[in-house]
Amino acid sequence: MTDPFVVVGGDAAGMSAASKAKREDPDLDVIVFEKGEWVSYAACGMPYYVKGTVEDLDDLVAVTPEEFREERDVDLRTGHEVVAIDPEAKTVTVEADGDRFEQPYGSLLIGTGARAVTPPFDGFDLEGVFTLRSMDEADAIEDYVDARDPETAAIVGGGYVGVEMAEALTERGLDVSIFEMLPQTLQPFGEETARVVEDHLRDRGVELHLETAVQGFAGGDEVEAVTLEDESVPADVVIVGVGVAPNVELAEEAGIELGPTGAIATDEYGRTNYEDVYAAGDCAEATNVVTGEPDHVPLALTANRAGRAIGSTVTGDPTETGGTAGTAIVKAFDLGAARTGVIDPESAREAGFDPVSVTIEAPTRPHYYPGATELTVTLVADRESERVLGASIVGRDGAKRIDTVATAVTADLTVPELQDLDLAYAPPFSPVWDPILTAAKVLA
Ligand code: FAD
Repeated sequence: MTDPFVVVGGDAAGMSAASKAKREDPDLDVIVFEKGEWVSYAACGMPYYVKGTVEDLDDLVAVTPEEFREERDVDLRTGHEVVAIDPEAKTVTVEADGDRFEQPYGSLLIGTGARAVTPPFDGFDLEGVFTLRSMDEADAIEDYVDARDPETAAIVGGGYVGVEMAEALTERGLDVSIFEMLPQTLQPFGEETARVVEDHLRDRGVELHLETAVQGFAGGDEVEAVTLEDESVPADVVIVGVGVAPNVELAEEAGIELGPTGAIATDEYGRTNYEDVYAAGDCAEATNVVTGEPDHVPLALTANRAGRAIGSTVTGDPTETGGTAGTAIVKAFDLGAARTGVIDPESAREAGFDPVSVTIEAPTRPHYYPGATELTVTLVADRESERVLGASIVGRDGAKRIDTVATAVTADLTVPELQDLDLAYAPPFSPVWDPILTAAKVLA
């Protein structure tokens, strides 16, 4: 009998791999160890649970543990933490209910995800100070807001989770402030997009403290204020969203190599330096399709896709995990902001490009058709080769047009080739020249 396919971590990467492997080879034993109780959950939906758009936390679960066990025949073990990997002996050590046991594997997937970065802020342990990474944390935030009826909220970190939580808590009736160390929010989305979002956040009553370093939190048992260098700002609830760190300790201790980003290094099949050990999702690197270099972009599609590919590979159908363009989109009240590729000039230069860019404003529909709004598009290309490197888009409607540019950067299109794409047009959807085409025309 072949040893089973063992998966560590039961979310996007892990459960995609387990499901795919079982579909491809129903005779293969597939065991998933998940240290928590939640599996196959949409972490991306958690801000909308706090906001109230999603009524029940259970609604964020795509496939329940019972469905995995009974319908997909996956041996899913929640409350089981993998504490060691022995890649030579091909075993993992598992802890559950105070017991420890060894589990042999034929192939292994590390899908341990990432955790919220927790800087050494004073008062991090005060009640009412949260990070938002797990379903339990989403539950705890919701309970706290429900029970204490806070009036003010502080969000530490102006990344996409911070912006989504600013909207969620404002909609819950709180006065929200964002504290961001950098001169702008949404750093990976570029300055032009961030400025539009920031103006909108202010219009919606969010107070922005840019270039502001938080020292810690003050209060009795419960948080009452955020302390800055020379003042303190009242806050009845605090969300710290200052980034994520890949969960690599388990791999590192087993001699599995990390890459330049600090996440687990993998080849195009998601394989680590041990042939039968794979890694996928937020704990692993993926190849950036623009630079060709290893990158760490902890986003859901990358995790799902890589997990699915590895599920095929371990059943004898080698499948590449695919690269990342770092395509992302975020809602900020009435705006959508999106980005793809390499848009930061410094990163582009580091990758050997000579970046040129243009920022345009264009309507999303013809002037005569109701509902037209302005879209701001920043398109970045390499001067010499004219290759499209990336873009950022922001507006009330249509930021999902970023997908056209994501396609262009993945297919190595030049600006003239992007300009020549035959994109769909009818007045209810777009002007004749879609804003992406207009940006390409201006940059060409
Ligand atoms: P995770 O989801 O982190 O899952 C890893 C699992 O492994 C966890 O359940 C953990 O308990 C388990 N585990 C870890 N160590 C062990 C161990 N030793 N033994 C057993 N189990 C272990 N992405 C987008 O693309 N779009 C979005 O809009 C978006 N919004 C987000 C909003 C929030 C608030 C958050 C937190 C994330 C968001 N993401 C978004 C990111 C997305 O959720 C992640 O990219 C995705 O969940 C990664 O899946 P994963 O399986 O790699 O890791």
